[in-house]
Amino acid sequence: MPVPTTAEMAARYRISDGRRFRLSEVDPADQWGRKLKKIADEMMKQGIKRLAMLQERLYADNRWSLLLIFQAMDAAGKDGTIEHVMSGVNPQGCEVYSFKAPSSEDLDHDFLWRTSKHLPRRGHIGIFNRSYYEETLVVRVHPNILKRQQLPPALVTKNIWKERYEDINAFEKYLSRQAVVVKKFFLHVSRKEQRRRFLKRIEESGKNWKFSPTDVKERDYYDDYMKAYEDTIRNTATAWAPWHVVPADRKWLTRLVVAATVIDAIETIDPRYPDVAPEVRAEFDRLKAELEAEAAQEAAAKEKAKEKAKA
Ligand code: ATP
Ligand code: MG
Repeated sequence: MPVPTTAEMAARYRISDGRRFRLSEVDPADQWGRKLKKIADEMMKQGIKRLAMLQERLYADNRWSLLLIFQAMDAAGKDGTIEHVMSGVNPQGCEVYSFKAPSSEDLDHDFLWRTSKHLPRRGHIGIFNRSYYEETLVVRVHPNILKRQQLPPALVTKNIWKERYEDINAFEKYLSRQAVVVKKFFLHVSRKEQRRRFLKRIEESGKNWKFSPTDVKERDYYDDYMKAYEDTIRNTATAWAPWHVVPADRKWLTRLVVAATVIDAIETIDPRYPDVAPEVRAEFDRLKAELEAEAAQEAAAKEKAKEKAKA
Protein backbone atom coordinates (compact mmCIF):
# COMPACT_ATOMS: atom_id res chain seq x y z
CA MET A 1 0.00 0.00 0.00
CA PRO A 2 1.53 3.37 -0.95
CA VAL A 3 1.57 5.90 1.87
CA PRO A 4 -1.65 7.90 1.51
CA THR A 5 -1.52 11.68 1.28
CA THR A 6 -3.07 13.78 4.05
CA ALA A 7 -5.88 14.69 1.65
CA GLU A 8 -6.60 11.00 1.02
CA MET A 9 -6.57 10.20 4.74
CA ALA A 10 -8.90 13.10 5.45
CA ALA A 11 -11.27 12.07 2.67
CA ARG A 12 -11.48 8.42 3.65
CA TYR A 13 -13.74 8.87 6.67
CA ARG A 14 -15.43 12.12 5.65
CA ILE A 15 -19.21 12.33 5.32
CA SER A 16 -20.26 15.52 3.51
CA ASP A 17 -23.76 14.38 2.72
CA GLY A 18 -25.32 12.32 5.47
CA ARG A 19 -28.54 11.29 3.79
CA ARG A 20 -27.46 7.76 2.96
CA PHE A 21 -25.01 7.26 5.80
CA ARG A 22 -25.13 4.06 7.82
CA LEU A 23 -22.99 3.72 10.92
CA SER A 24 -22.47 0.04 10.10
CA GLU A 25 -20.36 1.20 7.13
CA VAL A 26 -17.58 2.22 9.52
CA ASP A 27 -15.89 -0.55 11.46
CA PRO A 28 -14.33 0.76 14.71
CA ALA A 29 -11.52 -1.75 14.10
CA ASP A 30 -11.22 -0.89 10.39
CA GLN A 31 -8.18 -2.61 8.97
CA TRP A 32 -7.52 0.06 6.39
CA GLY A 33 -4.11 1.53 6.86
CA ARG A 34 -2.87 -1.29 9.11
CA LYS A 35 0.36 -1.34 7.11
CA LEU A 36 0.98 2.23 8.26
CA LYS A 37 1.42 1.11 11.85
CA LYS A 38 5.17 0.67 11.43
CA ILE A 39 5.59 4.24 10.26
CA ALA A 40 2.77 5.79 12.29
CA ASP A 41 5.10 7.43 14.83
CA GLU A 42 7.20 9.03 12.12
CA MET A 43 4.10 10.17 10.20
CA MET A 44 2.69 11.67 13.36
CA LYS A 45 5.94 13.51 14.10
CA GLN A 46 5.99 15.03 10.64
CA GLY A 47 2.27 15.83 10.82
CA ILE A 48 2.71 17.69 14.11
CA LYS A 49 5.50 19.78 12.59
CA ARG A 50 3.45 20.57 9.50
CA LEU A 51 0.48 21.52 11.64
CA ALA A 52 2.60 23.93 13.69
CA MET A 53 3.72 25.65 10.50
CA LEU A 54 0.19 25.84 9.11
CA GLN A 55 -1.20 27.16 12.38
CA GLU A 56 1.29 30.01 12.31
CA ARG A 57 0.05 30.98 8.86
CA LEU A 58 -3.58 30.75 9.99
CA TYR A 59 -2.77 32.99 12.93
CA ALA A 60 -0.80 35.53 10.87
CA ASP A 61 -3.47 35.68 8.17
CA ASN A 62 -6.05 36.43 10.87
CA ARG A 63 -9.11 35.95 8.67
CA TRP A 64 -10.20 32.34 9.06
CA SER A 65 -10.69 30.21 12.11
CA LEU A 66 -11.07 26.49 12.57
CA LEU A 67 -13.60 24.83 14.86
CA LEU A 68 -12.92 21.17 15.64
CA ILE A 69 -15.74 19.31 17.35
CA PHE A 70 -15.08 15.99 19.10
CA GLN A 71 -17.87 13.61 20.03
CA ALA A 72 -17.52 10.05 21.25
CA MET A 73 -18.50 7.47 23.81
CA ASP A 74 -16.45 7.39 27.01
CA ALA A 75 -12.92 6.00 26.59
CA ALA A 76 -12.96 6.41 22.81
CA GLY A 77 -9.88 8.61 23.10
CA LYS A 78 -11.08 12.19 22.68
CA ASP A 79 -8.69 13.58 25.28
CA GLY A 80 -5.66 11.62 24.10
CA THR A 81 -6.32 12.49 20.47
CA ILE A 82 -6.60 16.20 21.23
CA GLU A 83 -3.45 16.02 23.36
CA HIS A 84 -1.36 14.27 20.70
CA VAL A 85 -2.61 15.94 17.55
CA MET A 86 -2.33 19.44 18.99
CA SER A 87 0.96 18.87 20.84
CA GLY A 88 2.95 21.11 18.46
CA VAL A 89 0.62 24.06 18.10
CA ASN A 90 1.22 27.43 19.71
CA PRO A 91 -1.10 27.61 22.75
CA GLN A 92 -1.66 31.32 22.06
CA GLY A 93 -3.67 30.48 18.98
CA CYS A 94 -5.63 27.50 20.22
CA GLU A 95 -8.34 27.03 22.85
CA VAL A 96 -9.90 23.80 24.09
CA TYR A 97 -13.29 23.76 25.81
CA SER A 98 -14.81 20.70 27.46
CA PHE A 99 -18.55 20.82 27.78
CA LYS A 100 -19.88 18.88 30.73
CA ALA A 101 -23.46 18.60 31.93
CA PRO A 102 -25.05 22.06 31.60
CA SER A 103 -25.26 24.39 34.60
CA SER A 104 -28.50 26.01 35.68
CA GLU A 105 -27.36 29.19 33.95
CA ASP A 106 -26.82 27.21 30.74
CA LEU A 107 -30.27 25.69 31.07
CA ASP A 108 -31.76 29.17 31.37
CA HIS A 109 -30.68 29.84 27.76
CA ASP A 110 -31.15 28.46 24.27
CA PHE A 111 -29.06 25.37 23.64
CA LEU A 112 -26.44 27.05 21.45
CA TRP A 113 -25.74 29.75 23.99
CA ARG A 114 -23.00 28.19 26.05
CA THR A 115 -20.97 26.96 23.09
CA SER A 116 -21.37 30.21 21.11
CA LYS A 117 -19.46 32.07 23.79
CA HIS A 118 -16.40 29.93 23.07
CA LEU A 119 -16.23 30.06 19.29
CA PRO A 120 -12.68 30.62 18.04
CA ARG A 121 -11.64 34.14 17.13
CA ARG A 122 -10.12 34.84 13.72
CA GLY A 123 -6.79 33.12 13.21
CA HIS A 124 -7.46 30.67 16.05
CA ILE A 125 -8.22 26.99 16.34
CA GLY A 126 -11.10 26.21 18.70
CA ILE A 127 -11.59 22.70 20.00
CA PHE A 128 -14.87 21.54 21.48
CA ASN A 129 -14.49 18.42 23.59
CA ARG A 130 -18.23 17.56 23.40
CA SER A 131 -20.51 20.26 22.08
CA TYR A 132 -24.07 21.26 21.19
CA TYR A 133 -24.28 17.82 19.57
CA GLU A 134 -24.96 16.44 23.04
CA GLU A 135 -28.38 18.00 22.50
CA THR A 136 -29.30 15.30 20.00
CA LEU A 137 -27.24 12.54 21.63
CA VAL A 138 -27.30 12.27 25.43
CA VAL A 139 -30.51 14.34 25.57
CA ARG A 140 -32.16 12.00 23.11
CA VAL A 141 -30.99 8.86 24.88
CA HIS A 142 -32.18 10.25 28.24
CA PRO A 143 -35.49 12.08 27.69
CA ASN A 144 -35.55 13.22 31.35
CA ILE A 145 -32.75 15.68 30.48
CA LEU A 146 -35.03 17.33 27.94
CA LYS A 147 -37.62 17.82 30.68
CA ARG A 148 -35.12 19.89 32.64
CA GLN A 149 -34.62 22.32 29.78
CA GLN A 150 -37.60 24.48 30.78
CA LEU A 151 -39.07 24.58 27.30
CA PRO A 152 -42.80 25.38 27.01
CA PRO A 153 -44.62 22.12 26.20
CA ALA A 154 -45.97 23.54 22.94
CA LEU A 155 -42.39 23.66 21.64
CA VAL A 156 -41.57 20.10 22.56
CA THR A 157 -43.16 18.00 19.85
CA LYS A 158 -42.19 14.81 18.07
CA ASN A 159 -40.32 17.02 15.59
CA ILE A 160 -37.91 18.30 18.19
CA TRP A 161 -34.86 16.38 16.91
CA LYS A 162 -35.52 17.31 13.30
CA GLU A 163 -35.84 20.92 14.40
CA ARG A 164 -32.57 20.75 16.30
CA TYR A 165 -30.82 19.34 13.23
CA GLU A 166 -32.21 22.18 11.16
CA ASP A 167 -31.06 24.76 13.68
CA ILE A 168 -27.60 23.21 13.94
CA ASN A 169 -27.22 23.07 10.16
CA ALA A 170 -28.29 26.69 9.83
CA PHE A 171 -25.93 27.72 12.63
CA GLU A 172 -23.00 25.92 11.02
CA LYS A 173 -23.88 27.43 7.63
CA TYR A 174 -23.79 30.83 9.30
CA LEU A 175 -20.37 30.03 10.78
CA SER A 176 -19.06 28.94 7.38
CA ARG A 177 -20.15 32.31 5.98
CA GLN A 178 -18.27 33.97 8.80
CA ALA A 179 -15.01 32.21 7.87
CA VAL A 180 -15.24 29.66 10.67
CA VAL A 181 -14.36 26.30 9.13
CA VAL A 182 -16.18 23.53 11.02
CA LYS A 183 -14.96 19.91 11.16
CA LYS A 184 -16.74 17.35 13.30
CA PHE A 185 -15.24 14.11 14.52
CA PHE A 186 -17.05 11.08 15.85
CA LEU A 187 -14.43 8.76 17.32
CA HIS A 188 -16.12 5.44 16.87
CA VAL A 189 -15.06 2.88 19.48
CA SER A 190 -16.59 -0.58 19.74
CA ARG A 191 -18.35 -1.76 22.88
CA LYS A 192 -15.73 -4.47 23.30
CA GLU A 193 -12.77 -2.11 23.09
CA GLN A 194 -14.53 0.27 25.46
CA ARG A 195 -14.78 -2.54 28.03
CA ARG A 196 -11.08 -3.30 27.63
CA ARG A 197 -10.21 0.34 28.25
CA PHE A 198 -12.51 0.60 31.29
CA LEU A 199 -10.83 -2.49 32.77
CA LYS A 200 -7.43 -0.86 32.25
CA ARG A 201 -8.66 2.28 33.96
CA ILE A 202 -9.76 0.24 36.95
CA GLU A 203 -6.66 -1.94 37.10
CA GLU A 204 -3.93 0.65 36.54
CA SER A 205 -3.67 3.11 39.42
CA GLY A 206 -2.32 5.82 37.11
CA LYS A 207 -5.50 5.58 35.10
CA ASN A 208 -8.00 5.41 37.98
CA TRP A 209 -8.70 9.12 37.78
CA LYS A 210 -10.07 8.67 34.28
CA PHE A 211 -12.64 6.17 35.43
CA SER A 212 -16.10 7.00 36.65
CA PRO A 213 -18.57 4.30 37.74
CA THR A 214 -21.35 6.11 35.86
CA ASP A 215 -19.46 5.43 32.62
CA VAL A 216 -20.24 1.74 33.06
CA LYS A 217 -23.91 2.51 33.59
CA GLU A 218 -23.95 4.63 30.45
CA ARG A 219 -22.55 1.66 28.56
CA ASP A 220 -25.93 -0.06 28.90
CA TYR A 221 -27.21 2.52 26.46
CA TYR A 222 -24.49 1.88 23.89
CA ASP A 223 -26.96 0.77 21.17
CA ASP A 224 -29.25 3.73 21.83
CA TYR A 225 -26.27 6.04 21.52
CA MET A 226 -25.25 4.43 18.23
CA LYS A 227 -28.76 5.04 16.88
CA ALA A 228 -28.63 8.64 18.04
CA TYR A 229 -25.18 9.12 16.46
CA GLU A 230 -26.33 7.61 13.19
CA ASP A 231 -29.41 9.81 13.04
CA THR A 232 -27.41 12.89 14.02
CA ILE A 233 -24.76 12.27 11.37
CA ARG A 234 -27.36 11.49 8.71
CA ASN A 235 -28.99 14.82 9.37
CA THR A 236 -26.04 17.09 10.05
CA ALA A 237 -23.25 15.91 7.74
CA THR A 238 -23.10 18.72 5.21
CA ALA A 239 -20.72 20.07 2.63
CA TRP A 240 -20.06 23.11 4.83
CA ALA A 241 -19.60 21.14 8.07
CA PRO A 242 -18.75 17.50 7.35
CA TRP A 243 -18.53 14.70 9.90
CA HIS A 244 -15.48 12.48 10.05
CA VAL A 245 -16.41 9.09 11.45
CA VAL A 246 -13.03 7.82 12.61
CA PRO A 247 -12.42 4.21 13.73
CA ALA A 248 -11.26 4.44 17.33
CA ASP A 249 -10.31 0.91 18.38
CA ARG A 250 -6.70 1.55 17.43
CA LYS A 251 -5.45 4.81 18.88
CA TRP A 252 -2.56 5.33 16.50
CA LEU A 253 -4.91 5.21 13.50
CA THR A 254 -7.42 7.58 15.13
CA ARG A 255 -4.68 10.11 15.78
CA LEU A 256 -3.20 9.86 12.29
CA VAL A 257 -6.59 10.37 10.65
CA VAL A 258 -7.52 13.31 12.86
CA ALA A 259 -4.10 14.95 12.34
CA ALA A 260 -4.40 14.48 8.57
CA THR A 261 -7.90 15.98 8.61
CA VAL A 262 -6.81 19.06 10.54
CA ILE A 263 -3.80 19.55 8.26
CA ASP A 264 -5.99 19.13 5.19
CA ALA A 265 -8.48 21.68 6.56
CA ILE A 266 -5.83 24.37 6.98
CA GLU A 267 -4.19 23.51 3.67
CA THR A 268 -7.56 23.98 2.00
CA ILE A 269 -7.96 27.37 3.67
CA ASP A 270 -4.43 28.14 2.41
CA PRO A 271 -3.82 31.06 4.77
CA ARG A 272 -1.13 33.55 3.77
CA TYR A 273 1.22 35.79 5.69
CA PRO A 274 -0.22 39.25 5.12
CA ASP A 275 1.50 41.27 2.37
CA VAL A 276 3.53 44.26 3.45
CA ALA A 277 2.28 47.35 1.57
CA PRO A 278 4.97 49.25 -0.44
CA GLU A 279 4.81 52.33 1.82
CA VAL A 280 5.19 50.11 4.89
CA ARG A 281 8.11 48.32 3.20
CA ALA A 282 9.77 51.71 2.63
CA GLU A 283 9.28 52.50 6.32
CA PHE A 284 10.83 49.10 7.19
CA ASP A 285 13.89 50.00 5.08
CA ARG A 286 14.20 53.39 6.78
CA LEU A 287 13.98 51.80 10.23
CA LYS A 288 16.49 49.13 9.26
CA ALA A 289 18.98 51.82 8.23
CA GLU A 290 18.36 53.65 11.52
CA LEU A 291 18.96 50.52 13.61
CA GLU A 292 22.11 49.68 11.66
CA ALA A 293 23.43 53.22 12.10
CA GLU A 294 22.83 52.93 15.84
CA ALA A 295 24.79 49.65 15.94
CA ALA A 296 27.67 51.23 13.99
CA GLN A 297 27.74 54.19 16.37
CA GLU A 298 27.84 51.87 19.36
CA ALA A 299 30.69 49.85 17.87
CA ALA A 300 32.67 53.02 17.13
CA ALA A 301 32.18 54.30 20.70
CA LYS A 302 33.33 50.98 22.10
CA GLU A 303 36.45 51.04 19.90
CA LYS A 304 37.23 54.57 21.02
CA ALA A 305 36.87 53.63 24.71
CA LYS A 306 39.23 50.68 24.18
CA GLU A 307 41.90 52.89 22.59
CA LYS A 308 41.53 55.42 25.40
CA ALA A 309 42.04 52.68 28.00
CA LYS A 310 45.19 51.49 26.21
CA ALA A 311 46.72 54.99 26.05
P1 ATP B 1 -13.81 12.48 30.70
O1 ATP B 1 -14.73 11.42 31.21
O2 ATP B 1 -12.86 11.99 29.68
O3 ATP B 1 -13.17 13.30 31.76
P2 ATP B 1 -16.17 13.62 29.64
O4 ATP B 1 -16.35 14.55 28.50
O5 ATP B 1 -16.78 12.27 29.53
O6 ATP B 1 -14.66 13.53 29.89
P3 ATP B 1 -17.60 13.86 32.07
O7 ATP B 1 -17.61 14.90 33.14
O8 ATP B 1 -17.33 12.45 32.40
O9 ATP B 1 -16.64 14.36 30.93
O10 ATP B 1 -18.99 13.86 31.34
C1 ATP B 1 -19.60 14.96 30.85
C2 ATP B 1 -21.04 14.57 30.72
O11 ATP B 1 -21.78 15.73 30.40
C3 ATP B 1 -21.26 13.56 29.62
O12 ATP B 1 -21.96 12.46 30.10
C4 ATP B 1 -22.09 14.33 28.61
O13 ATP B 1 -23.02 13.51 27.96
C5 ATP B 1 -22.74 15.35 29.49
N1 ATP B 1 -23.18 16.52 28.73
C6 ATP B 1 -22.46 17.32 27.95
N2 ATP B 1 -23.23 18.24 27.35
C7 ATP B 1 -24.49 18.01 27.75
C8 ATP B 1 -25.73 18.61 27.48
N3 ATP B 1 -25.83 19.63 26.66
N4 ATP B 1 -26.80 18.11 28.09
C9 ATP B 1 -26.69 17.06 28.93
N5 ATP B 1 -25.55 16.45 29.23
C10 ATP B 1 -24.46 16.91 28.64
MG1 MG C 1 -16.77 10.80 31.07
